Amino acid sequence: SDHQLTYPRTPIDMDWSTFFPAFVCHQDQEPADAKSQDSIAVMSTKKMKQDVEVIDIGCGFGGLLVALAPSMPEKLILGLEIRTQVTEFVQERIRSLRAQNPETNVYQNIGCLRANTMKFLPNFFKKSQLSKIFICFPDPHFKARKHKARIVSVTLNSEYAYVLKPGGIVYTITDVEDLHEWMVHHLEAHPSFERIPFEEQEADECVKIMRTETEEGKKVERNNGPKFVALFRRLEDNPW
Ligand code: SAM
Repeated sequence: SDHQLTYPRTPIDMDWSTFFPAFVCHQDQEPADAKSQDSIAVMSTKKMKQDVEVIDIGCGFGGLLVALAPSMPEKLILGLEIRTQVTEFVQERIRSLRAQNPETNVYQNIGCLRANTMKFLPNFFKKSQLSKIFICFPDPHFKARKHKARIVSVTLNSEYAYVLKPGGIVYTITDVEDLHEWMVHHLEAHPSFERIPFEEQEADECVKIMRTETEEGKKVERNNGPKFVALFRRLEDNPW
């Protein structure tokens, strides 16, 4: 349960160094303008060369992470998963992929964190930190009384808007038509999001990866099931 979940008080308290060791700043690489206050933080959390920019909410067994890694080698990509054993499986998967590819930096840019994304997202990410959020085949929670457990909702969409930078994209895919309509309805109704037109959606390389490389996407493929995709752009905030 959430009692065992650990999460930082604020994003600057989060230590990412064990997730992305290849992206830790060495002392001589620390920004020259680092203020003395920052160096106090450095003592507890190691400074990173860059922030996480892409997240996969409910990443499951990590198929999307592994496929995205070589397609965005310059971005830090994090999977968030609530199940302990599944998280550990993905962490081990990443460790062995790194070990099998020692000569390249590939797979150094992906990590997996155990978290309940319905509760602690703003503890991990600053405002406007992210450029992409993937929500792939989320649990459908069919019954009406379970809808509050859905990962797309009025409240959660505001958190996604907070952590996404303007121009950033929420990617959604599901095989459950009712859930697809729910996600479209809730994201379109949110003032911070607009739906991305079909042509632009289909031209996006990440959409191809999301359709074919997630474990659920593969399962749906085997069963000849449908895949409903919708993308939403984070708009600029209104000045008023
Ligand atoms: N995205 C993967 C895929 O497409 O293959 C996995 C889809 S699976 C149906 C949904 C995943 O979301 C499960 O692994 C589940 O444990 C995880 N999950 C559900 N609620 C979550 C939450 N609040 N925070 C993080 N992960 C969650």
